[in-house]
Amino acid sequence: MVSSEAAPLAKTGGLADVVGSLAPALRSLGEEVAVVIPRYGSIDLKSLRRVYDRAPVFLGLTPYDVSIYQAPEAYPLYLVDCPPLYARGGLYGEGGKDYPDNHIRFAVLARAALAVARFLFKTEIFHCHDWQSGLVPAYLRTTFAYDPTFLGVKTLFTIHNLGYQGLFPKTALAEAALDGSLYRPDGMEFFGKVSYIKGGIAFADALNTVSPAYAREIQTPEFGFGLDGALQARSGALTGILNGVDYRAWNPETDALIPARYSARDLSGKRKCKEKLLEEFGLPPSALDRPLLGIVSRFTRQKGIDLIAEIADHLVTEDIYLVALGTGDPEIEALVGKLAATHPDRVGVRLSFDNPLAHRIEAGTDMFLMPSRYEPSGLNQMYSLKYGTVPVVRAAGGLNDTIEDGTGFKFAEHSGPALLAAIREAVRTYSQGEVWKAMMLRGMEKDFSWNRSATAYAGLYRRLLGRG
Ligand code: ADP
Repeated sequence: MVSSEAAPLAKTGGLADVVGSLAPALRSLGEEVAVVIPRYGSIDLKSLRRVYDRAPVFLGLTPYDVSIYQAPEAYPLYLVDCPPLYARGGLYGEGGKDYPDNHIRFAVLARAALAVARFLFKTEIFHCHDWQSGLVPAYLRTTFAYDPTFLGVKTLFTIHNLGYQGLFPKTALAEAALDGSLYRPDGMEFFGKVSYIKGGIAFADALNTVSPAYAREIQTPEFGFGLDGALQARSGALTGILNGVDYRAWNPETDALIPARYSARDLSGKRKCKEKLLEEFGLPPSALDRPLLGIVSRFTRQKGIDLIAEIADHLVTEDIYLVALGTGDPEIEALVGKLAATHPDRVGVRLSFDNPLAHRIEAGTDMFLMPSRYEPSGLNQMYSLKYGTVPVVRAAGGLNDTIEDGTGFKFAEHSGPALLAAIREAVRTYSQGEVWKAMMLRGMEKDFSWNRSATAYAGLYRRLLGRG
């Protein structure tokens, strides 16, 4: 697998969780899997083993001084070390701005992954994730089309989020030493730019997204980000495989990051978690018997946080409380900050990336809000089910695939009033203690473990290789 993230070493969102869980899940099914990611500045070299010195990585005639390290994970996790490119403060950018040489950074990642396949890990399938690895299929179809090492090698491209496409000026093509013939609408050209995600979409042998609903949605203009036509053209090769949950990390029975453990048989620990969470956010103890809503999210337009701001005044009329954790767009951070300033007794906010706190919020809240504009898979709603925290979600993508009437509340239209109606229904149900508890328990019983998704990926690999 080629990826820009893998939990726990490098994470900004769900992609990291997926790669970090799918690889070991595939191994437990008997597949041989290795993962290649960049060695970012935040990953300490001391914990790594150097396994290949000075891999020959060139973009055209320009050499890059690349070494490959291996991390002590349960599966071979290779890190591409090239400090001038990757040892920086962020993964993709800093201060809300993308790094200007991202086209080079992820071209080098693709070429380094090919070097790993050549020297370290004999590869039958390159499973590429998102635009950052979109050049792997493109190079294999052009520069390396006749390279004996890669004869018969197949590619799978997984779209985790179509909203991120890796768009660069036309000059990127030459700088990444990509064949000029790729610059065409049914190749990597996208309205006068070079699109790295189209490298995957146009040239991978198979494509998938992270839920069946999202696989359908992205072929429509509403969710297609201008790529619906390109995706329709490949619809025969495009499927949806729902993400799974790593229950070793996300299970209230064993979670070491929450103040008290609990299970479907004994929910008393959940009340303790709620009590502590209210304390931590300075919310009044009287909130203990009222609905407490939670949000853990990247603060981007995609996640629909603006809808929550729209309905904030109703927190008081409904007598409910909210805790929110997230970082991202400065405008959305300001919006959420303002919520807390206007309703200090109702709303608690932390503008940071804080995994232990994410666990405490999952455990300590009653309802979890995900009013996303679109949601390829979404993980938090599945974590919420396991923690007996009832999801209130927009009926889109993976949210629609994972939440049913008996386990959560869904609304269709992306609007404040529609969200409010769903919250009101949830609050009404909350006041019917036994009905609410039955709903929590139904969610806690749901099983979205990786085994199912990994089995589906293994099946897809087999079909690609003509073995299944
Ligand atoms: P996306 O990949 O679009 O960000 P997902 O729901 O698929 O959304 O995955 C988000 C992952 O990132 C979850 O594991 C979630 O807990 C985590 N996460 C997002 N924001 C934060 C944050 N501010 N602090 C801690 N974890 C976060």
